[in-house]
Amino acid sequence: KPKPVTPAAEKKNLVVLGTGWGSVSFLKDLDIDNYNVFVISPRNYFLFTPLLPSCTTGLVEGHSLMEPIRNFFKGKSAVEFYEAEATEVDPERRVVHIKRNHTIQGEVAQSVIPYDMLVVGVGADNATFNVPGVEEHSCFLKNANDAQKIRNRITDCIETALCKGRSSDEIQKLLHFVVVGGGPTGVEFAAELQDYYKDGLRDRFPDIMDAFRITLIEALPNVLPMFSKQLMDYTESTLKAEAINVLTKASVKEVSKDDIRVEVTKPDGTKDIQTIPYGLLVWATGNKQKGIIENLAMRLNKQQDSRRGLVVDGCLAVQGAHNIWALGDCANSKLPPTAQVAHQQGSYLANVFNAMARTPSSGGPEVQPFDYNHQGALAYIGMDKAVADLNLLGFNISSHGFFTFLFWKAAYLNMCLSARSRFLVTTDWMKARVFGRDMFRE
Ligand code: FAD
Ligand code: NAD
Repeated sequence: KPKPVTPAAEKKNLVVLGTGWGSVSFLKDLDIDNYNVFVISPRNYFLFTPLLPSCTTGLVEGHSLMEPIRNFFKGKSAVEFYEAEATEVDPERRVVHIKRNHTIQGEVAQSVIPYDMLVVGVGADNATFNVPGVEEHSCFLKNANDAQKIRNRITDCIETALCKGRSSDEIQKLLHFVVVGGGPTGVEFAAELQDYYKDGLRDRFPDIMDAFRITLIEALPNVLPMFSKQLMDYTESTLKAEAINVLTKASVKEVSKDDIRVEVTKPDGTKDIQTIPYGLLVWATGNKQKGIIENLAMRLNKQQDSRRGLVVDGCLAVQGAHNIWALGDCANSKLPPTAQVAHQQGSYLANVFNAMARTPSSGGPEVQPFDYNHQGALAYIGMDKAVADLNLLGFNISSHGFFTFLFWKAAYLNMCLSARSRFLVTTDWMKARVFGRDMFRE
């Protein structure tokens, strides 16, 4: 039976869902002492997603990208963190239902948290477009566990291929790594895998490495469609030069344990179905909304366009709700679902809350709407090369190659939300240069 959790003081109860880019930026800039803050997330850490692809091949360690959530509000007694999943928001009763699997006691505990104000930053799930077999047979790349699962699977494929008595067909299949989705997640993962092959695998296992292949499958005519045409072409030619097989205008229709069925549009416009065997399949076809968000949207008016997240107004207030705000990937603010957007929204919303606390009962402060400052897009494409579409002092600048890669490294280190993470990532990079990557199966 749900047990109510009673807050201590008379300040307003501010409940924050999630410990990702949006919620953590919000908490970092919030004057926490003005509210009774409850943070709820199944993850007791913040995850620096931009370097997650590097984690799959042992260049960077998972824990280097994780920052314990309590480090962000050390010494602030007005914050309580519950490691639990929010299962439902009830906007009429102004409560959030939460659930936690106590693995030690082997029980599921449920509670109800009342809120005066609610900030929702729960991110998104992986889109599968209901393609049969995806959930069962592929790996995603959104969380730290996903990266570790891919790392284990790569190691497994290689060790199995090295075992005595494998036929050449089996080795070909095991060492075929297929990536579905030519957005930045798919491209960066394929690039990291190709680097791992060149840095470590090719010379260490020469007997089987002739069979090593990466295929990147994209439904649209180009990979990295959010970049300029020049950078899309550069990326595609660089990936092909690195021996990554790029299959565009190809849509995966079905996934089974051993192979995928792909519909490929040929240059003359006719379609062909190909069956492609794989050892590892990574599925990176973007976002879909979480169940809790769909459920909340259904209970509210003005949420007809909520397929891309909770529809918010210019100040990130959820339309059709009272005292609920949403940010990041679970909010439909007509901006792309990126860390850059979530981070800026978090800081903006904290300033709004700080202003509201200063003017408590006079009808609220004058709030300017959120104004997104797009600084550009960056992606790593392998072998010390990156592409960048930057917006510097109002000028659009496109660049690619080695110097863009150095800029990419500096920019990502700068983006890390803690000195600890910055230090660990730097030492991981140095360690990999000197001693090679760590690829253990855990
Ligand atoms: P998230 O950061 O995903 O955080 C969601 C939080 O909510 C998590 O703490 C989660 O545990 C918690 N949560 C989930 N369900 C519940 C629940 N039911 N109740 C409570 N809490 C819950 N963007 C860029 O701008 N640049 C990049 O280089 C970049 N690289 C990326 C690389 C990868 C591999 C991926 C997957 C994404 C990348 N992105 C990048 C996109 C970026 O990570 C997301 O846009 C960003 O994380 C969105 O922030 P968020 O706070 O909305 O969600
Ligand atoms: P995405 O939505 O950017 O790309 C997914 C791709 O998968 C699309 O190009 C789509 O055409 C393709 N696709 C969909 N269904 C398919 C199918 N059945 N077969 C073949 N291809 C299919 O997704 P993402 O790369 O996961 O990125 C998600 C968000 O995170 C985006 O907003 C992205 O900008 C952001 N992100 C940014 C960076 C970066 O800035 N370096 C890195 C990773 C992610």
